[in-house]
Amino acid sequence: MPYDYDLLVIGSGPGGQKAAIQAAKLGKRVAVVDRREMVGGVCTNTGTIPSKTLREAVLYLTGMSERGIYGQSYRVKDDIAIGDLFQRTHHVIGSEIDVIRDQLTRNHVQIVGGDLIRRLEKFLPVIGHLQCAAVPSRHEPDEGEVNYPAVFEAVDRLGYRGWIGAEYRPRGRTEDGLGWAGAYGVAPPR
Ligand SMILES: Cc1cc2nc3c(=O)[nH]c(=O)nc-3n(C[C@H](O)[C@H](O)[C@H](O)COP(=O)(O)OP(=O)(O)OC[C@H]3O[C@@H](n4cnc5c(N)ncnc54)[C@H](O)[C@@H]3O)c2cc1C
Repeated sequence: MPYDYDLLVIGSGPGGQKAAIQAAKLGKRVAVVDRREMVGGVCTNTGTIPSKTLREAVLYLTGMSERGIYGQSYRVKDDIAIGDLFQRTHHVIGSEIDVIRDQLTRNHVQIVGGDLIRRLEKFLPVIGHLQCAAVPSRHEPDEGEVNYPAVFEAVDRLGYRGWIGAEYRPRGRTEDGLGWAGAYGVAPPR
């Protein structure tokens, strides 16, 4: 598969984000790759942000930081369950990921998530429609970073019987660009 970047940053934690954005601001074509499904690294997903948010959730829900004013019996919630803490933590993690994604996208940094086939294996039973296009060009699916022969092989192997849409911007005339589909038994119109 051809890759067309000046810089490929491995890891989307704070270090990776800063490196990628700095390079993008210097006019380089940059991608960030991470093995995790979500961007943000340890800082956003498992370390800094979750641990501090859990602490804040405990301080808030127990009323701990306001007891000097409202008295020792003050509480925001009487029965605090782990779900209450996770609810706030997941909300904050989600917002932080949105901010990071937005910042990388605004600076035209490509985010490479990977794991496409593993996700197909997991979710194909509930998928009724697939769409394909080259990444990142959104042209015919015979270029770019997604290995479509391997993806379509997996789709067949997993027994998918739904629709596959070719949702891309043709490089030239639509008819001329249909050659890629011949490899999968789809003949271009005459
Ligand atoms: C529980 C905890 C609490 C913390 N609290 C604080 C705090 O309060 N204040 C503070 O300043 N710091 C805190 N830290 C430290 C802080 O999280 C780290 O210093 C910071 O995340 C480091 O950023 P980074 O970009 O170097 O790496 P990371 O955030 O670790 O990101 C590295 C990324 O690289 C990815 N990666 C690694 N190898 C590969 C590979 N081969 N292929 C693809 N991707 C790969 C990982 O999946 C990960 O997403 C805490 C850490 C922990 C664990």
